Amino acid sequence: MVAPQEIPNFVDGRAVPATSGQWFEKLRPADETLLCQVARSEAEDVALAVAAARAAQPAWAERTAVERGDIVRELALLLRERREEASAIVSEETGKPLELAQGETDAAVEMGLFVAGEGRRSYGRTTTASVPHRTVLTVRQPLGVAALITSFNTPLPNVAWKAFPAIFCGNAAVLKPSEHTAASAWLFGQLAREAGVPDGVLNIVHGVGTEAGAPLVEHPDVDLVSFTGSAATGRWINETAGRRLAKVCLELGGKNALVVCDDADLDSAVRWALASAFSNAGQRCASASRLVVFEDVYDQFRERLLAGLRDLEPQPVVSRESLDRISEAVGRAAEQGATVVAGGDRLDRPGWYFAPTVIENAASDAEISRIELFGPVTVLYRVGDLEQAIALVNDSSYGLTAAIHTASVHRAMRFAECVQAGVVVVNAGTHGSEPHMGFGGVKDSGTGWREAGVEALDVYSDLKVVNLVTDPTKA
Ligand code: NAD
Repeated sequence: MVAPQEIPNFVDGRAVPATSGQWFEKLRPADETLLCQVARSEAEDVALAVAAARAAQPAWAERTAVERGDIVRELALLLRERREEASAIVSEETGKPLELAQGETDAAVEMGLFVAGEGRRSYGRTTTASVPHRTVLTVRQPLGVAALITSFNTPLPNVAWKAFPAIFCGNAAVLKPSEHTAASAWLFGQLAREAGVPDGVLNIVHGVGTEAGAPLVEHPDVDLVSFTGSAATGRWINETAGRRLAKVCLELGGKNALVVCDDADLDSAVRWALASAFSNAGQRCASASRLVVFEDVYDQFRERLLAGLRDLEPQPVVSRESLDRISEAVGRAAEQGATVVAGGDRLDRPGWYFAPTVIENAASDAEISRIELFGPVTVLYRVGDLEQAIALVNDSSYGLTAAIHTASVHRAMRFAECVQAGVVVVNAGTHGSEPHMGFGGVKDSGTGWREAGVEALDVYSDLKVVNLVTDPTKA
């Protein structure tokens, strides 16, 4: 199965074009050639998908958690069977190397297998009561219709982190994948059908954010909006869905820092800094866009980092708009006094390539130090000691991930205690989440929910407290 030339919506188990009949072109980031046409949906298409979800949800919720888990497992196993074609599609639609896409497909499969296991493990709590003959327990109940809106950067894991727990918990879902990665989402929908996900339980509506995403957020029959994307869009979603008191889970951006202390293993720190800043062309919510280095090892670290940069294989960013945005921001940083020590410009070849870029001498309150670029750009900073490093790391509106390289357990623990982030890593990269680890951030990086892990079940279900009177004659 390869992605078709036209990617239709998937509503109530059927492939349907947008009701307007409109399509938009999806180009390959690696060479700007046409990959496919994608359904350009609007409010009417969203309404059809939400109605299908609403109709399908009660019967789905009546199935046991074990049965729903079995279907989730089947879907994960089908994705594993189709690993090569799924990864090839992702590689084409994003421009990332095939091996990276394969790793992401594996991660999406693992998320499915982890969630499937919850079918036989969804523990609640039993507790006491102050009155006699009463037992109290908590059970999980679905929310109803879940809107799932995702980013493009790791398209299959982004979908898997939401779709698996959403449907496992007994919800029906309407997925609005990124307009840049419709093809992999289309494959996920096909596999869901093959796996036995009932019609209407997982619907997919394609389109651009303001035309297809916004009506989904605004739809009064959507009970939960789970969103992965930029802080600006997340803020609008929170305001809009919050107005009708819908539950909102936001996984947003980061300006993640990697700290290199004077006692760090410098080769290891350089290796992790390069991987954290530049893999996936820096298009990771957890990418290390700030490198905070102790004065005593700054020059050595910088030299080795720049040497390592020469061996990097560039990867395109997802769109021409991204390329222009990154390029303009780097240009402004230079105008404002920062030094571009490597890269700094687009590559002279077809496709949307920006050279891996290292900047220094930027003030901590300069634009380049504060905004998320979501591209292959990182900024070096000098600090005198750990307390200065922590202060600089925390001097950001974001708080997603942070890493420190040190041989000192005291420094590592002090950093872990003080740093404002949802994930802290000692002696490795700023990324590295796994399906059983709750992932999310603080401050502008999210609204406190955690995706993946058993924590994801809290996003996609409500807790109900059940009071059982064991002897009514004495109650
Ligand atoms: P984006 O906010 O532009 O788009 C994300 C999704 O929202 C897309 O599907 C888009 O079509 C849709 N959208 C856009 N405007 C909308 C609107 N008004 N209403 C509803 N939907 C709308 O973000 P992006 O460029 O796709 O992704 C990059 C961002 O995602 C970065 O900030 C990155 O850090 C973040 N991200 C976060 C995580 C995490 O887990 N925290 C993971 C991956 C990416």
